[in-house]
Amino acid sequence: MDTPTEVLHRVFGYDSFREGQQEIIDHVVGGGDALVLMPTGGGKSLCYQIPALVRRGVGVVISPLIALMQDQVDALRALGVRAGFLNSTQDFDERQLVESEFLAGELDLLYLAPERLRVDATLRLLAKGDISVFAIDEAHCVAQWGHDFRPDYLELSRLHELWPDVPRIALTATATPATHAEISSRLGLEQARHFVASFDRPNIHYRITAKNEPKRQLLEFLRSEHDGDSGIVYCLSRSSVEKIAEFLVDNGIAAVPYHAGLDARTRALHQSRFLREDGLIVVATIAFGMGIDKPDVRFVAHLDLPKSLEGYYQETGRAGRDGLPASAWMAYGLNDVVQHRRMAMEGDEAHRRRQVLHLDAMLALCETVTCRRIMLLDYFGQKDSQPCGNCDTCQTPPESWDGTVPAQKVLSAVLRLARERRQKFGVGQVVDILLGKKTAKVLQHGHETLTVFGVGDDLGNAEWHGIVRQLLAQGLLAVETDYGALVLTDDSAGVLRGQREVLLRRDTLRPARAKTSSSA
Ligand code: ADP
Ligand code: ZN
Repeated sequence: MDTPTEVLHRVFGYDSFREGQQEIIDHVVGGGDALVLMPTGGGKSLCYQIPALVRRGVGVVISPLIALMQDQVDALRALGVRAGFLNSTQDFDERQLVESEFLAGELDLLYLAPERLRVDATLRLLAKGDISVFAIDEAHCVAQWGHDFRPDYLELSRLHELWPDVPRIALTATATPATHAEISSRLGLEQARHFVASFDRPNIHYRITAKNEPKRQLLEFLRSEHDGDSGIVYCLSRSSVEKIAEFLVDNGIAAVPYHAGLDARTRALHQSRFLREDGLIVVATIAFGMGIDKPDVRFVAHLDLPKSLEGYYQETGRAGRDGLPASAWMAYGLNDVVQHRRMAMEGDEAHRRRQVLHLDAMLALCETVTCRRIMLLDYFGQKDSQPCGNCDTCQTPPESWDGTVPAQKVLSAVLRLARERRQKFGVGQVVDILLGKKTAKVLQHGHETLTVFGVGDDLGNAEWHGIVRQLLAQGLLAVETDYGALVLTDDSAGVLRGQREVLLRRDTLRPARAKTSSSA
């Protein structure tokens, strides 16, 4: 029997284990259960592949990433590993072939989509074979608290009942303390050894900037820092994916779109071009990226606010897997906040509560005046980190200013408008009133007669939008579900009464303007 180290050299061609790998592998080879928390790119695959090769029998890997199974299996076969998969994309003959290989003991690794386990025939098949280890990849999919819950994963607790002697290893890259606990209890891994690798990705530079002209800002970011680099640009909607991809191409930058609305062939083509070509940018929705292993992704850009820190950290974690400097860049604006606040109000009560907490954590990261990495690591349960020196807030600490008076102006405008019963008003109307703009809508409702009309003409449109965004982020304002109307919160009163100070980040003021005034 080969040792893990021999397999590492001979099959995978690597010199040494990465941090954590050897301990995990030894534990599983010895028959122990394991729960592994390791960041994206940390090297989780080897943690189950090597035990599968070292132990007698077939390693069964449960993975939700059906679209990637073919690639994963091809890659393993190219290394001489006997791998196969079973999922819904195969026809009967293809399945038969894999099943007979499995039964004949001709496989080292068998990848299974979780829904296969609901089919009794699959369980009967597994019962006839010799299984060396169960690997549960993307284990956070079992957690309802997380952002990627899949009901089929709940069934995986049965594996242990049916095969009590086969070791199980569950792996994930996204685990807050809450998700971690949920995975452990749902999969019955309380007695398993838990391996928690550092979640820090020190080579990734984090930067979050206020969004005012997203296209121009993106272009400037790409041209000044990532000329000719491979990277991913995430957008929230399919239509913005299309638009941004087109915009980049029009500007002479190699880019392709990727979202669930494209046909399977186009998606596969764009994905494989991204993996193979140098310097190609994929503009995508979050449908893109899970399980993609491209070491030299130099940047991940977000043009819209992700729904949760889990999502954000996983997406940005796709940059710089090779350990070389990479950037995570995000532009976010008031509309993101409004849109997410409204989306967070959908669904049942428990879902809503979770969404709101997720969004609040995301916003807190955006508006923080301290090291972004400290906040991220803290969120993922790694306390007491030191300022990293490799994020925007470390490098140029944001100035804060006393925004109590402007905040009071916004809140009293919202208060005045809330008194009107017939109609609700959004951000645009509030800002127009503060600026003293006699727009048709202002005149129609007689808003030019409000005492707050024109009290904000000391600042510009963009500044007011930035202030409203920060008030939303701080929970001093809220967005009503149906119309996107601004409403006060329980905390607003303290500000209105002058009992509470409001600190705002200076950089919400439009940077271009701040520059001209200081150089003048
Ligand atoms: P994860 O699943 O944790 O995101 P992967 O298992 O895909 O990460 O590994 C990320 C990359 O690191 C892959 O390209 C993999 O081949 C490489 N890798 C993993 N372990 C080692 C090692 N011990 N030495 C060198 N490269 C490694
Ligand atoms: Zn920092």
